[in-house]
Amino acid sequence: MGKLFVISGSSGVGKGTVIKRLLEKNPDFELSISCTTRNKREGEIDGVHYHFMSKQNFMSAVENGDFLEWAEFSGNYYGTNRKFVEQALNENKKIILEIETQGAMQVKEKFENAVLIFILPPSLDELEKRLRGRGTESEEAIQKRLNTVKSEMINSKKFDYTVVNDVVEDTVLKIEDIITNEQITAN
Ligand code: 5GP
Repeated sequence: MGKLFVISGSSGVGKGTVIKRLLEKNPDFELSISCTTRNKREGEIDGVHYHFMSKQNFMSAVENGDFLEWAEFSGNYYGTNRKFVEQALNENKKIILEIETQGAMQVKEKFENAVLIFILPPSLDELEKRLRGRGTESEEAIQKRLNTVKSEMINSKKFDYTVVNDVVEDTVLKIEDIITNEQITAN
């Protein structure tokens, strides 16, 4: 049986960069590609960054039970492909889910052994700076995302681990340590 590692963190915390680096260093880790109803950002590729879909198709997928977990975040829907995860677990893979905290809670309910890792910013000011600096969202979208930070921080208390993302390479090392230790204790 494989193992699920959920990585969450507020918008702008640098999860994407950390996970990209983690996957480069560990080709045996499998990243689950989520489905979303949000608009594609510049440079994003369908099937690589997300499976982009309409709200209508997303809701039919919900009704079909196609998602392991799903949630509304900042006005859009996001969901994890159930079949992909089940198959990867059967193939003994280490699967990374990069999802928000409501989804992380649903995963923990279904898979007690899932390991939940929350990435924290060095400070809230730094988070806002990074979110603005990335220049991908409108001011309204930025405000919406900043408003969810508090509830995410509350949910993060239920996570197994929290890691402060100051220097990317250090954060990656910390996550690798967590994954290695969890593998040892699971055996
Ligand atoms: P973004 O729009 O910035 O790509 O993602 C917004 C939030 O949705 C992020 O916190 C991201 O981790 C989360 N997210 C991405 N995919 C999924 C998913 O499949 N399920 C859930 N619950 N959250 C997701």
